[in-house]
Amino acid sequence: MDIIVDKSNAAPEGARCAVHADWPAVITCVTCGDYACRGCLQEAGDKYYCASCELPPQLARLGARFNGHLLDSMIFAAPAIPIIVGAILDPLGGALYWIAMIFGIVASLAVMGVNMLWLHQRGQTIGKRVLGTRIVMLDDSPAPLWRIVALRALPVGIASAVLSLIPLGNFIMLIDGAVIFGTERRCVHDYIAGTKVVEAK
Ligand SMILES: [Zn+2]
Ligand SMILES: [Zn+2]
Repeated sequence: MDIIVDKSNAAPEGARCAVHADWPAVITCVTCGDYACRGCLQEAGDKYYCASCELPPQLARLGARFNGHLLDSMIFAAPAIPIIVGAILDPLGGALYWIAMIFGIVASLAVMGVNMLWLHQRGQTIGKRVLGTRIVMLDDSPAPLWRIVALRALPVGIASAVLSLIPLGNFIMLIDGAVIFGTERRCVHDYIAGTKVVEAK
């Protein structure tokens, strides 16, 4: 392991590991300030921590975010399937049409309910829970549900609905996701809501 320590994180000359008094310390823990040797330091992002401190959550992998979003999109769209099938099989609006319609609406409400509950409890949609990511505030504190709904989902959702009506509108929406390739790995909707997506433990 090649340890490149930022000067602010480096242990002072002559410092000894807090756990192994015989070993020279390489780093000063960002969280507690203890000195740690080469053998017991922990690395997270571009910072180093001692062995006893809990590491801060890491930014979610792009693949996990993409797949989580894809899964959420499919789960949200799924309740439309029985409604469409019902309308095709029973176009005159008979019993089958209505059963399929009610089934679709109930399924849709269930999907919405589970997502809201999990977002509130753990900052996760169904897709994020499956892929092991979650939404937090920039300081790693839990993101309140109202913020996720009103600032993270609604503005981009409304913009997406409006833009889908104009030519090339969907293309403009790619910008929301494309920003994720920046160093902070945040989408436009993360910037609006002051959130980021991290790996869930
Ligand atoms: Zn520590
Ligand atoms: Zn040590």
